[in-house]
Amino acid sequence: MPQVTCPGLRAFATLLREKYDLRFALIARNAPDDELRNVEAEVFRVNRLMTSHRRRCPDCTKTRTVVTPFRRPRANLLRWVN
Ligand SMILES: [Zn+2]
Repeated sequence: MPQVTCPGLRAFATLLREKYDLRFALIARNAPDDELRNVEAEVFRVNRLMTSHRRRCPDCTKTRTVVTPFRRPRANLLRWVN
C-alpha cells in the first residue's frame, strides 16, 4: 500500500475506511436497506471529497499517489449487494 504523505488526504482515507467498516458491519447484521443506503451515500460523499481534494491540493497533484485503503476485491463488494 502506498504511503500517503498529505495529511488532508490521509484524514479522508481514514474517514473512508471507517465508513466502509461501518457498511460491512451493517451488512453483517442484516441491517435494513435504508440504513445501508445512508452509509453508502456517505462512502460516495467521502470518495468525491477525496477526488476533489486530490485535484486541488498542491501536495497531492505533485506526488500523484493512489490511495486505496484496502485491496480492490473488497471495494468491488459494493456492486455485489446492489
Ligand atoms: Zn492533499
